[in-house]
Amino acid sequence: MTDRYDDQNIFARILRGEIPNKTVHEDDWALAFEDVAPKATVHILVIPKGPYVDYGHFAREASDDEILGFTRALGQVCEQAGLEGGYRVVANTGADGGQEVPHFHLHILGGEAIGPIRA
Ligand code: 5GP
Repeated sequence: MTDRYDDQNIFARILRGEIPNKTVHEDDWALAFEDVAPKATVHILVIPKGPYVDYGHFAREASDDEILGFTRALGQVCEQAGLEGGYRVVANTGADGGQEVPHFHLHILGGEAIGPIRA
């Protein structure tokens, strides 16, 4: 898997303010916004501000501050989303993982029973 980052990907453009989004959280390390085509009652995407293609790239190249800041932002978004019944966090990675946008992102899915992960 290549780490080459395409700065024209849709989330890079959202980060630059070129495409509108429904932001639910923003800080120095992360932007969280509603998925444009929600797959659950609550479907939020959380992305780091740095140019990372996928989780492996982020885990390898991001600074400790970026990783900590992003992780804390994720936790904050999950808590503020009011998902008392629980939720799922997903990182689709690469072609086999079904990743469409090549900027690392986590999906938060909830607001209903998401069900078990099936093979
Ligand atoms: P992936 O398949 O890469 O893990 O997930 C990409 C997600 O981004 C999809 O759930 C898709 O609905 C969402 N998405 C794609 N384009 C846009 C957009 O322009 N705005 C927002 N808010 N979400 C988008």
